[in-house]
Amino acid sequence: MKTIGILGGMSAASTQIYYRELCRLTRETLGGLHSPELLIRSVDFDEIERLQVSSNWDAAADILNEKAIALERGGAELLIMATNTMHKVADRILAGLSIPFVHIADATATAILDGGFRKPGLMATAFTMEQNFYTDRLTARALFPTIPEAGDRAETHRIIYDELCRDVVTKESRLTYELIAQRLINRGCDCLILGCTEVGMLLNQDNVAVPVFDTTLIHCEAALRAALD
Ligand code: GLU
Repeated sequence: MKTIGILGGMSAASTQIYYRELCRLTRETLGGLHSPELLIRSVDFDEIERLQVSSNWDAAADILNEKAIALERGGAELLIMATNTMHKVADRILAGLSIPFVHIADATATAILDGGFRKPGLMATAFTMEQNFYTDRLTARALFPTIPEAGDRAETHRIIYDELCRDVVTKESRLTYELIAQRLINRGCDCLILGCTEVGMLLNQDNVAVPVFDTTLIHCEAALRAALD
């Protein structure tokens, strides 16, 4: 099995899910006492978030590029980045690296197409929903993503940063997310992308009426496939 390098900490709440899911998937795939070969470089999200808010994306990318190079030097044989949002600057983060990179949006698009769906709703950070770096990647694969209306986008974003990234899960926010998801379904979405690695803390197949594509789980599955290839 190849060693998976994880750029994590964005947030720490979802990087813990990556670790748990990669362990579960490896155990289920290989059986016995098998567990994944991993290197996790978890960053201080406070610094990254400040750079996001001040639109200093290149500075954030340079920090992550340095950590990614360290992961490769340390023995990582493939790389994943445990956040959708920072894929905005994936090219800059990958500069100088030679190990393969498993892109979260590509893995998600493949899973949706394999399931026979075309019109995903997208719940994510405002950056991921409103800028085109993510939705373009989906439309390039012949998908037709729909994002929530402005008020719902703002609330989705607020709950991610004020609650989920701080490991806070509330009934109120779960209900808010369920209603936002339902409004996307009412607008014709045939499936839902949990397009932020923390959204699975509130939504899953049990409380959404269309097939759910949780980017965290899909990304873990794709990373493990690549590691076992
Ligand atoms: N984990 C989140 C995502 O998947 C948001 C935190 C971040 O901005 O990196 O987009």
